[in-house]
Amino acid sequence: MALVECSACKKRISSVAKACQYCGISQGGDSESTQKIRQINQASQLQTHSFIALTLFIAGVMIWFWGGEAAEGTRLYVGGACFVFGFVGYLITRIRIILNRRGNV
Ligand SMILES: [Zn+2]
Repeated sequence: MALVECSACKKRISSVAKACQYCGISQGGDSESTQKIRQINQASQLQTHSFIALTLFIAGVMIWFWGGEAAEGTRLYVGGACFVFGFVGYLITRIRIILNRRGNV
């Protein structure tokens, strides 16, 4: 639990308080726009994550099939790791984007 400044009287109040305990001003109006900004930030962050995951996925495929021959040794592990992490990461990010959008309504 952290202490924040009341938007009206500037006294220190709990960050979880719905209203200021000194002046009674509701702290909800402010947090709604803050929440929206946070959601927009998260959405753009998730877009970046999905882009990184997709790049990793493509890189894994490229490493694996480099030169048209089957990967072996270190290349097999590096390519495989990129492929799996990229694929799983992309799936997780897509799900998180959907959940984030659903929470936006
Ligand atoms: Zn206050």
